[in-house]
Amino acid sequence: MMFGSLVRPSALSREGSGKALSSGWAVNFAVGCTHGCVFCYARRIAEQLNPYGLPESAFAGGWGGYLHVPDNLGRLVESTPWGRWRGEVLLMSSTHDPYLPRLYFPHRWPRRILLAALPRGVGFTVLTRSPLALQDLDVFARYRGQVTLMYSVPTLDWALTRLTEPGAPPPGARLAALRRAKEAGVRTGVVVAPIIVVGGWEERLRRLFEVLAELGPDVVYGEVLHSRGSNVTLLRKLGLSPRLGPRADAETGRYFEKLLAEHGLKGEYWYEWSHKFR
Ligand code: SF4
Repeated sequence: MMFGSLVRPSALSREGSGKALSSGWAVNFAVGCTHGCVFCYARRIAEQLNPYGLPESAFAGGWGGYLHVPDNLGRLVESTPWGRWRGEVLLMSSTHDPYLPRLYFPHRWPRRILLAALPRGVGFTVLTRSPLALQDLDVFARYRGQVTLMYSVPTLDWALTRLTEPGAPPPGARLAALRRAKEAGVRTGVVVAPIIVVGGWEERLRRLFEVLAELGPDVVYGEVLHSRGSNVTLLRKLGLSPRLGPRADAETGRYFEKLLAEHGLKGEYWYEWSHKFR
């Protein structure tokens, strides 16, 4: 598999939520994600939109069971004219976790990309669920004006996490990594997404905010679960029947904003639906 370019317009921007995470660009350097989150929106991009024209056999392992790295990645890192994105903020990454073990060892791809781009004045939002990002804490700290390290933490509920994010590190490990980054002077953030609106969701969100208030990330974003591809069908097979649509979005957004204000945290809830439902 070959990639034509490393930096592309961010799909998240087109969906209206990427503005807060990037200035409209994303760096993706693999197809697949071994965290295998059941609700994942990237699965639809990889398997249905299939932008790299991979054969069906490439997806045989099922979501979470395959990870394809382009054969020309080393050359792309070297040949990308990073200076073109000076002053921009790139999201790393929008269709996979950049700090998957197989992306870090042995080639240390995220580090190589950061060290190629940061000296050219490029900014990054690094979005991950993995404490492996701490391998590059020295880089984040050296370029602290250009990097925000963001952890995705939809919930602290371990049973729900194991069910819906079967290959991802525990939420506590993510927040411990965030604490270390913050102590090193790195700008940090948390993306509370997707918020799965099933029984007890308000209590779970309240408990997460109590922990976030103590940690004090620079920014906290949130978003309710959206139906993408077959993700809702897959969640239902696991016994979860989340509320969806404009009213669930509005209710979740209102509660999220209340918690932000109560805890004096900066951030924003990303509404999917129009104002009339709020
Ligand atoms: S970490 Fe992100 S890209 Fe990877 S499976 Fe989970 S939601 Fe999808």
